Amino acid sequence: MSLLERDPKAPAAWQGDLPVTSRYTYGLAGERFFRAIKDEGRIYGTRCTTCDHLYVPAVSFCERCLSELTEWVEVGITGEVHTYTLLYENYEGSRREEPEIVALVRFGDGGLVHRLAGLTTDQVEIGMQVTAVFKPQDQRTGSILDIDYFKPAG
Ligand SMILES: [Zn+2]
Repeated sequence: MSLLERDPKAPAAWQGDLPVTSRYTYGLAGERFFRAIKDEGRIYGTRCTTCDHLYVPAVSFCERCLSELTEWVEVGITGEVHTYTLLYENYEGSRREEPEIVALVRFGDGGLVHRLAGLTTDQVEIGMQVTAVFKPQDQRTGSILDIDYFKPAG
């Protein structure tokens, strides 16, 4: 057996615990972006007029030219499936009965990675329009999971 072949008797995964805690701050643009999702059910990006690039999620500075970005653009709640994958295992490694569909939903020149629902794996297509379905307002926490899922538009 070469080094590139997988030993069929090797364990598929190692179980363990990593006692890691972290604190992630949204930053100025992230705070406004997530507040709009939580409070308004709206998705915003920021535009770099120098590069003609629309960042979604919104950011404070253009990663191309380093300009400060102050033009906020509401991009709507319907985007386009740019790519997707099917998840056949749950987080803890158990097999799913039906695969989860996770897509990069394109907005502007960026997009959001989120799950798709309300369609089968046979129905998902790159380029299809999908609309964000938000959790009820009293269940939102200021997270990307305030968007419950994306469903086919229309
Ligand atoms: Zn720029």
